Amino acid sequence: MRQKVFWTGFVVCAVGAMVVAQTAIAPKPPFTAAQAEHGKQIAAKSLEIRAQITNMRDPAEPFKIMGNLYFVGVANGEVYLLTSPQGHILFGAAFPDTIDQIERNIQAMGFKLSDVKAILLNHNHQDQSGGAFTLKEKSGAQVMAGFAEIPFLEHGGALPAGTPVAALVPPPAAPGKKAAVVGAPGGGGGYPPVKVDRALFDGDVIKVGPLTVTAYLAPGHSPSPTSWLYTVKDGGKEYRVFEFCCWEYPEDLGRSAYINEATVRHTLELFRKVLPVDIYLETGAYGWSGTLNQPSGTIQERMAKLKTNNKLFVNRDIFRDWSAAREVEFEEKLIKLRASNPIYK
Ligand SMILES: [Zn+2]
Repeated sequence: MRQKVFWTGFVVCAVGAMVVAQTAIAPKPPFTAAQAEHGKQIAAKSLEIRAQITNMRDPAEPFKIMGNLYFVGVANGEVYLLTSPQGHILFGAAFPDTIDQIERNIQAMGFKLSDVKAILLNHNHQDQSGGAFTLKEKSGAQVMAGFAEIPFLEHGGALPAGTPVAALVPPPAAPGKKAAVVGAPGGGGGYPPVKVDRALFDGDVIKVGPLTVTAYLAPGHSPSPTSWLYTVKDGGKEYRVFEFCCWEYPEDLGRSAYINEATVRHTLELFRKVLPVDIYLETGAYGWSGTLNQPSGTIQERMAKLKTNNKLFVNRDIFRDWSAAREVEFEEKLIKLRASNPIYK
């Protein structure tokens, strides 16, 4: 359904009396304009914090996020451990050369890598899946990933030689834009290939002992990035945790074969479906609800604060408002694209 377009204001040019009108999109209910505006600020803040990470591989101190959920990753933030007496789930595998850090972090939290029963990979890039082969070898865990990531994962982050890619060719770029990328945009292959034990499809449920995680696919950043929804208990309260993969800020819909109107709309519907989200975990610490729920501080200061006050993670506004902003941003971009390139009409 088309959004209602309304006039938001007028900017009077300093030279002459020409008036330039700006259009804006009203968010679809129940999102409000105020929420979308807040979401826009959150997105900007997240990018600003992300820019402070100079080396994604740097070590990071592990800590308990909430209940049986722990952060055990590196400086960029990915890798979480959800524990149970019947075995654990590891989310993400980080880089091939940060495996020792991950294992040390798991041990520092009082757990053993050999008790990990499932390694859930959100997409095939090196920062998320580079260590999967070795972590699987060391733990004996089953590796699971979105179905369309598997050809990449099982070939170290690239498609096998000779794969016909004609079907992946995206639409022509808008005039004046760069040619689109075929394959995994922003990818980083070159890691040991890992055999995937279970292909995941939208809505699949993963169980390890009492642990239950629902997988959702959101194509865009790669063929089938997978997001995870689950509940943790802490102090008698339950918290809905959502780990989303992955935000994209495309200049146009033709940036990759996986970013098109249908995939973006599928992702936006996913956001509405999983709300409310109490604890939002990005693939990186720069996007955690706990990080963004602080008025100031460097990424290191924000992460340090979370170790002493994990309740900062709990904020239902952050992911909701971010989602509202993304919907508005997308509709605005679509109007511009349709005006500039007939392929999108
Ligand atoms: Zn990636």
